[in-house]
Amino acid sequence: MADTANGTPVKNVLIVGGGTAGWLAAAYLARTLAISEPGGARITLVESADIGILGVGEGTFPSIQRTLRRIGIDESVFMRESEATFKQGIRFDHWQHPPGTAHRDHYFHPFQSAVSRQDLDLLPYWLLGAAGGTTPLDEALTVQKRVADAARAPKRAGDDDYVAPLNYAYHFDAVKFARLLRIVAVDLGVTHIVDTVDAVPLDETGAVAGVVTRENGTLTADLYIDCTGFRAQLIGQALKSPYQSCRKWLFCDRAVALQVPYDQADAPIPSYTVSTAHEAGWTWDIGLESRRGIGHVYSSDHTNDTRAEQVLRDHIGPAAGDKTARTFRFEAGYRAEPWVRNCVAIGLSSGFFEPLESTGIVLIEVAAVLLTSLFPWAGDMATAARQFNRIMRQRYERSLDFLKLHYCLTRRTDTAFWRDNADAATIPDTLHDLLDRWRHRPPEGMDFDLNLDTFSEASWQFVLYGMGYHTDLGAKASAFRYMAEARQQFAAIRANTDQALAALPPHRDLIRHIYRHG
Ligand code: FAD
Repeated sequence: MADTANGTPVKNVLIVGGGTAGWLAAAYLARTLAISEPGGARITLVESADIGILGVGEGTFPSIQRTLRRIGIDESVFMRESEATFKQGIRFDHWQHPPGTAHRDHYFHPFQSAVSRQDLDLLPYWLLGAAGGTTPLDEALTVQKRVADAARAPKRAGDDDYVAPLNYAYHFDAVKFARLLRIVAVDLGVTHIVDTVDAVPLDETGAVAGVVTRENGTLTADLYIDCTGFRAQLIGQALKSPYQSCRKWLFCDRAVALQVPYDQADAPIPSYTVSTAHEAGWTWDIGLESRRGIGHVYSSDHTNDTRAEQVLRDHIGPAAGDKTARTFRFEAGYRAEPWVRNCVAIGLSSGFFEPLESTGIVLIEVAAVLLTSLFPWAGDMATAARQFNRIMRQRYERSLDFLKLHYCLTRRTDTAFWRDNADAATIPDTLHDLLDRWRHRPPEGMDFDLNLDTFSEASWQFVLYGMGYHTDLGAKASAFRYMAEARQQFAAIRANTDQALAALPPHRDLIRHIYRHG
């Protein structure tokens, strides 16, 4: 094996695992590391035919648009091949109050940031009531909430690839998406081996010496990428990089999921994920073209598997029928060192948070971008690893705060799950600090660093105020002198929303058009 620690150039990359992480990393690196050019890197991916991929992970974040564009995948091809639909955000039902109370029962986390003209930041004016005292933030600041409520698409047929009047991500079939990425990656020159890795011996320096396969002997490389999912065969089992549990903050550790058809074949397709809070967790509901994927994420400390599956079936209703559910176990957490010596972990082998905000695929994208930038061409492995590890660790820590924000402001006291979630002792200090800052001013750009934060101030604002947080601007209310302009702008957003509703097609119509005509 090349002694990469001493600066031997890195040319051969071996990816172990062919799920979303493995194939996305393969396609991204193949495109960005110029593997078909002389002097480019060589990339091989080995995946087991016996160990399946997870096959869930159907919700994404808008960053996926740029990732697909960089890989060179045409939007309509991607949508057709992956059975993708548009996702304009997430609707959170019953997170603040349980069902049956008189309060508004939901809020929306849209992907479209506030529409603001004349450089007037509208959020403080919303806090001061300029949008009309009862208008929630998600309706006051963007047109997207009402567009999504009406099952409209974020753009019209014929609009260019990845160009939208409204920002969006996608829902897709994870198995079909991995297959598309495989075809693209192989086309870009990635060597594909179907085989199972049985052992991962280390050399005398503690680096990976090779991976021993059943049919193809020992495969060696300069750099190994562990995409073996929860097994973490290289980074965990062989290299013993510790896994840092986040369970004391994020309690959910299991999921049970079903796929069901629509009641009617032409039923409207929601263009957002519906996330509904339940007694000991929450359900996701994702609409594809021909089916819905629905799953219940829950805490085994607060319920049991039988009850959790019943909650899922009750939530779905008759469509669940006698369909067999799939179950998943996980532990919220991450590896503080996902890159150890000559091995980088990407995907579930690196860490996992419950899929509340699609952090799984986002962090795969982030890791692929970072690895491209830090790629140790000259063998400067340790330097690259330090920076990769620092950034990925901070990405996880900051995502953890954002996910916990969804829980900790709840007013629900109906079950121990919700009472425990609101207990100050289960809130990370870093999140306490953020909430303290926002008692007298709203979240602003300076609170975040988009090299390290996945979620910008807009996302934080929609969740914070969607959950009923109170920022008291009283002490400096006189500083906001543009109430009349703000009122006009809120009225303009309402008018724009009416126009968008008239102009944008039903989501299902656009999907049908893209599948048929590209
Ligand atoms: P896997 O899909 O498990 O793939 C592992 C690969 O490694 C397979 O190809 C397997 O064959 C191979 N392998 C393993 N061991 C060996 C071996 N010894 N030899 C050879 N090959 C081997 N993320 C989101 O962004 N949005 C979501 O909505 C979302 N929902 C989720 C819901 C649930 C219930 C769960 C558990 C996760 C969800 N995620 C979501 C996370 C998302 O599914 C994963 O991040 C994504 O699928 C990546 O998985 P992976 O490729 O790391 O692992």
